[in-house]
Amino acid sequence: MPELPEVETVVRGLGKHLIGQAIKDIDIRNKDSYKTTTREIKGLKVTKISRRGKGVIINLSKNVSLLIHLKMTGQLIYMPTKEQALKKRLNFGHPTNDFTGEMPSKHTRIIFHLSGGTLYFNDQRKFGWVKLLPTEKTNEDSFIKNLGIEPFSKEFTTEFLWSVIKRRPKSNIKATLLDQSVVVGVGNIYASEILFSAGVNPHKKNNQLNKEETKRIVAGTKQVLKKGIKYSGTSILNYRTPEGSQGKMQNHLMVYSRDKLPCRTCKTIIKKTQLDSRGTYCCPKCQR
Ligand SMILES: [Zn+2]
Repeated sequence: MPELPEVETVVRGLGKHLIGQAIKDIDIRNKDSYKTTTREIKGLKVTKISRRGKGVIINLSKNVSLLIHLKMTGQLIYMPTKEQALKKRLNFGHPTNDFTGEMPSKHTRIIFHLSGGTLYFNDQRKFGWVKLLPTEKTNEDSFIKNLGIEPFSKEFTTEFLWSVIKRRPKSNIKATLLDQSVVVGVGNIYASEILFSAGVNPHKKNNQLNKEETKRIVAGTKQVLKKGIKYSGTSILNYRTPEGSQGKMQNHLMVYSRDKLPCRTCKTIIKKTQLDSRGTYCCPKCQR
């Protein structure tokens, strides 16, 4: 599932390509992927693209917005027209070797025909969604409303996480990090990476943690997510950038998906365990 670094990469990529373009037409190939509470989308212009948690927000003219969640397998792939590609010196017709394939694909659920290109919403498992709604209703949307704080915000401090940890003594630290109502954007991949970075065993219960470890977890969260953005996210299965390329973070992971491989720091064999029925990776020596 795309986590904060993947969604941030999508938002930055789309921002480069879509701002100022008008939506000429929309082709909805799977009705359930598109939810709308408002009027026509045709003719509206893209004014701003941002992220909240793992959600993409595309602001359009006339105070209308698209709220998008990629869930498990969603992709937003942009293909410029030939004219646009030449003007902007994009790689039209010569996608990279790892390009996701011909567009539209059999997993394309919605196609946005824009003035300078085409935006494809692909979603193999069909858990993702695109919502068209009045901009002022965005914050009231059930998805946005229930989100916790942003990890890069000033509010995400040791004191903040420590207060959550104190309130949930029986919960384990990995589950606390994954809870989107606490801090947003961390999923299964980055939770393992953050706890490695902090030197904390993911199986630890909150009441076994001290404040120094909490401080390292907060610092590790910011640092690991930043690193994920730097490498354009992790492509293990479906995730692609808006240009159709793979991210590169999978080559820089310290523990996730490195079962039975030597720890990059101490050479101890990385161990995969199940925690709340999800694969969890850690170095038994570096993470106590
Ligand atoms: Zn180690």
